Amino acid sequence: MNKVLILMMALMGIGELAAQGDGPIAIAIHGGAGSVRPGSLTPEAEKEYRDMLNKVLDAGYQVLRDGGSSLDAVTAVITQMEDSPLFNAGKGAVFTYEETNELDASIMFGKDRSAGAVAGVRIVKNPILLARTVMENSPHVLLAREGAEQFAKEQGLEIVDPAYFHTEKRMESLRRVREAKEKEAREKQGSRNDTPGDWKYGTVGVAALDRAGNLAAGTSTGGMTYKRWGRVGDSPIIGAGTWADNQTCAVSATGHGEFFIRWGVAQDIAARMEYGGQTLQDAADTVIHKVLKKAGGEGGIIAVDKNGKVAMPFNTAGMFRAAIDADGNRTVAMYGEE
Ligand code: ASP
Repeated sequence: MNKVLILMMALMGIGELAAQGDGPIAIAIHGGAGSVRPGSLTPEAEKEYRDMLNKVLDAGYQVLRDGGSSLDAVTAVITQMEDSPLFNAGKGAVFTYEETNELDASIMFGKDRSAGAVAGVRIVKNPILLARTVMENSPHVLLAREGAEQFAKEQGLEIVDPAYFHTEKRMESLRRVREAKEKEAREKQGSRNDTPGDWKYGTVGVAALDRAGNLAAGTSTGGMTYKRWGRVGDSPIIGAGTWADNQTCAVSATGHGEFFIRWGVAQDIAARMEYGGQTLQDAADTVIHKVLKKAGGEGGIIAVDKNGKVAMPFNTAGMFRAAIDADGNRTVAMYGEE
């Protein structure tokens, strides 16, 4: 073999390594924020959640460790959580006022701020995969309802009967919220625009950093129990429920969506880092514990910065969460004081 050829092959080898990268990796996951406290779940249910969080954390981390992209880690974790009835995303999504399930999801890639999102889809098995398809195979960012479903069919995504998403647990939540709402109306206690009860668990989200230094974030949800009139929350809104930019961080939010939209939570955290020089932890704490708390918005976020640091603040009693940061520190927790 001539020397030039050997040199070219060596250079190509080096090129491939550089493309794959050897930087730090990190991942953070949430399974919803809310009033979960020690004792509020049965020991069996608690174990089920912890086992699931450990399982998806390992699955996502494995993708990154094997040199996979942050986008692949995000979709690998979220599809598993959508397929599990434990979470308010995909199967197990909460019910609307009309007893249907309307699913929202979004994904963003920090390398070029490309993004995709879907709102109010009822027949797409994995909304996060549809969000990614919108990002990769369409010129758009956000598709909604029948149009999004039509796109899903054209793109060959898995379509299911709407009954696939039904679970008795979520129907029971709807009954409780409906009763509370009707009682409130009867007693004419005014109409607060929050929904009591069960919005508080189960939206899922992931933020990840891959070896090539690319951040990505994704979020998937059934929204809030008893939602009506085509209500869409923050989860499919880029900048509110999901954000990723390689200059700063990747963020996924969970909580009372209307507040996350109005305060542009996910993007505000990144902006504080970029323009204000705050660390990820400072920026995330300020937004969740000060700005949002003062506004009356309940919830939390998980985030990873460009160096693989992780922040997971919430202003509710608990948040299902799991992470492995760039130093290999592992967290799997649900309550406030863990
Ligand atoms: N943020 C979601 C929404 O408002 C709900 C949640 O995170 O639990 O639709």
